[in-house]
Amino acid sequence: MEFSSRNRLGILAKAAGETNDLIVIGGGITGAGIALDAAARGLKVLLIEKHDFASGTSSRSTKLIHGGLRYLKQLDFKLVREVGKERAIANRNAPHLVIPAKMLLLLIEGGSLKKSSARLALWLYEKLAGVKKEEGFRILNKLETLQTEPLLNEKLSLGSALYTEYRTDDARLTIEVLKTAFQLRARAVNYTEVTDFIKENGKIIGVKVLEQISGTCYELKARVVVNAAGPWVDEMRNLDDTPKGKRLHLTKGVHIVVPYPRFPLANAVYMDAPDGRMIFAIPRDGITYIGTTDTDYSGDKDLPLVNKNEADYLITAVNRLFPDILLKTSDIISSWAGLRPLIHEDGKSPSELSRKDELIISGNGLISIAGGKLTGYRKMAERVINKAADILRKDFSMTVPESITASIILSGGNFVSQQEIAEYIETQTGESRQIEATFDNIKSLVGKYGRNTEQIIETAFDLWNNSENRKDVLELAEILYCQKYEMAVYPSDFWTRRSSQLYFKPNGLIERFEKFSPFFFSFGHLSEQQKREAGYVFLREVQNTMSFRD
Ligand code: FAD
Repeated sequence: MEFSSRNRLGILAKAAGETNDLIVIGGGITGAGIALDAAARGLKVLLIEKHDFASGTSSRSTKLIHGGLRYLKQLDFKLVREVGKERAIANRNAPHLVIPAKMLLLLIEGGSLKKSSARLALWLYEKLAGVKKEEGFRILNKLETLQTEPLLNEKLSLGSALYTEYRTDDARLTIEVLKTAFQLRARAVNYTEVTDFIKENGKIIGVKVLEQISGTCYELKARVVVNAAGPWVDEMRNLDDTPKGKRLHLTKGVHIVVPYPRFPLANAVYMDAPDGRMIFAIPRDGITYIGTTDTDYSGDKDLPLVNKNEADYLITAVNRLFPDILLKTSDIISSWAGLRPLIHEDGKSPSELSRKDELIISGNGLISIAGGKLTGYRKMAERVINKAADILRKDFSMTVPESITASIILSGGNFVSQQEIAEYIETQTGESRQIEATFDNIKSLVGKYGRNTEQIIETAFDLWNNSENRKDVLELAEILYCQKYEMAVYPSDFWTRRSSQLYFKPNGLIERFEKFSPFFFSFGHLSEQQKREAGYVFLREVQNTMSFRD
């Protein structure tokens, strides 16, 4: 069976007819990682997502696979070591999606780091995190720094440290993890909400769900239920019982996007904001994005938005260090806001709260996982399944093997080096000349789909050979691929999460949406009203990324 939007009801019907070893609530990176770890150990696992996969925090992060430099400040050496190791594994298993990128840590007058402390911190960090020799840091003096970033404020600059971070696409990483889990017989469905738990003798034995497109309810049985609902973790815990002990503390972080020519950086930069926090500015694919903020949040979890103060905060920070670019709110072409599902600690400010993950097990046996980072998703999943394995062993006499995800290559990620990826792009460009695909078209596809790009090209050839209108066949083939192999249902599933065009290529998006929407709506099984609503939802989403409230 394919991981297709057409198979959603079939997947649910199959899962309803059996007892699953594990049900995972939440299709963000945490839930996806758990599903992969479970399936790889041979467990029968079903993942339920109420909206689209990665529609929560996992498409709204800074999109970095961090080496854990910031944990050094908290003297958490163990975490720096673990995160460094995880970063190397993430790069090895999905080299097209987790890519090394130079980061310039700016050292400025009155800033949080001096040259000597930056040198010491990076030296220690590289030792602990096991950073590859060729990715080692270099301290640049003021002149070298200004030559590298000529727009930098000369008066404030003291120099910089050039080190290596890894960038990713959070939503694509989540989807590739899910596709890999699906290949290993995990089941997963989007647009299906967990509405209640089924209990027997004081233990959770399954969940009730509402499949939102058909409006059908299902009762799904499982030996163990895991709550990986991110910012909604406490809602699920409330549904189970009155939560005891730790609780969530949500903080909001926003990013704004400007055209690259308005903020042309040679490297990604990590810099001080006027209030002493650190923010990133990251150039990529014709844009530069800037973030993030960290403020307490108690609003609508389904719709966190960027407000004007937050956009102004980021713009002010950039203009102070890059005074000649005179960035304005009107330069912003897109934006996103995400919620960090952190663990509450009395008396701590948002930025002081730990980013560590925690497992909480309720009296009814619900395993909840909260906190953590995109970067540590694999290790978090391993810990959750180790805990689930204890229960399966004790209560169901099942034997569960050790985790093997460290050596599982993610879907499309079968490359041994960045060099091999570059050669693959060249080859595929050569082979796609007939359908008028450019090098940039193919590079963009390989950056998202890795070796699965070949399937998209094959479909594009079919479209080219069988249609009179040959314009945009590659983009149409990409949409069809996402419907058939990535369970994309609605337009925003493609434009926001599968292709990230809402954030990185927003110009002309409405026209593209109008042009391609008939293909979306012919694939799924939506009523006329659902089609209209899906259109409005997408248009509102586009509007929200481009306008800010006070
Ligand atoms: P989510 O992605 O929110 O997933 C939870 C899912 O559960 C949602 O999709 C939701 O729809 C679903 N759900 C909720 N209720 C139900 C229900 N009843 N039934 C079914 N499904 C349900 N980490 C990094 O490593 N690097 C970074 O650069 C980075 N930057 C960040 C920047 C910001 C601004 C923020 C906010 C976070 C950042 N993080 C970063 C942290 C990282 O993004 C998160 O830790 C991670 O994405 C959380 O994933 P999750 O799966 O736990 O939650």
